Amino acid sequence: MIVAAVNVKGGVGKTTTAVNLAAAFAGAGLATLLVDLDPQASASHSLGVAPGAEPTVADVVVRDRPLGSAVQPTGVLGLSLLAGSLELAGADLVLARRKDPVDRLAKALGGSRDYDVTVIDCPPGFSLLTLMGLQAAQGMIVPINPQDLAVDALGRFFSGLEQLGELITDPPVLLGILITMVDRRTKVTDELIERVRGEYGRKVFTTEIPLNIRLAVAPSQGSTIFDYQGWAAGGVAYRKLGGEVLRRARRRELL
Ligand code: ADP
Ligand code: MG
Repeated sequence: MIVAAVNVKGGVGKTTTAVNLAAAFAGAGLATLLVDLDPQASASHSLGVAPGAEPTVADVVVRDRPLGSAVQPTGVLGLSLLAGSLELAGADLVLARRKDPVDRLAKALGGSRDYDVTVIDCPPGFSLLTLMGLQAAQGMIVPINPQDLAVDALGRFFSGLEQLGELITDPPVLLGILITMVDRRTKVTDELIERVRGEYGRKVFTTEIPLNIRLAVAPSQGSTIFDYQGWAAGGVAYRKLGGEVLRRARRRELL
């Protein structure tokens, strides 16, 4: 199964979710690949990859190298990485002139039988990169944080996706909307969560990711939450999310 963490909005927890969900899958014994499609490469940095290090996803989607030559192991058992690259910041321009630019990642990943699960960390916005991620994915997870702007942006994301739908064949199914950075001490959080759950119902994951400083600190140590402090609230939540994602994926026959 290939699943993308995606949202037009930045700062909603896409990268934190992609990294820790991928690590949760690996921890559950699934051969897992994390694909960092964001030119900022924060998922790669989270796993201790230095900025500018090679190889990267650009080798695959720009230079047509085989997937196996660009994937690297990580410190996490069972988790491999196709690292991000600042080079992809200009990929829209370079790739737009090539044939079928949107299909490039899907083609690169499609032939591989090496992984049970692939998690794609998408950049914010609807760039060619995000479309490439969506084209490759069978399922998507849409993280949001309970803030006014993020909740409003959710509607824009889904209508934008509809408009762009014709650019991708076989769009991924929504595995779920994930509410992250939840701080139940504030009343406004409760109200926004109620709004999202009221509007989107069962499309919203039961699991919520708490606001947890450990999740924000782990990347600076080049660690997932599980290798940093697995029993922190954030680690417990991402492990639980892993189970919920797998159950939902099986129900939709993606696994
Ligand atoms: P995105 O990829 O959508 O831009 P990130 O995953 O990078 O979002 O998260 C934005 C910031 O919030 C990062 O600094 C990250 O460490 C922090 N963060 C993400 N999730 C949590 C959380 N549950 N608790 C605390 N901080 C978080
Ligand atoms: Mg990100």
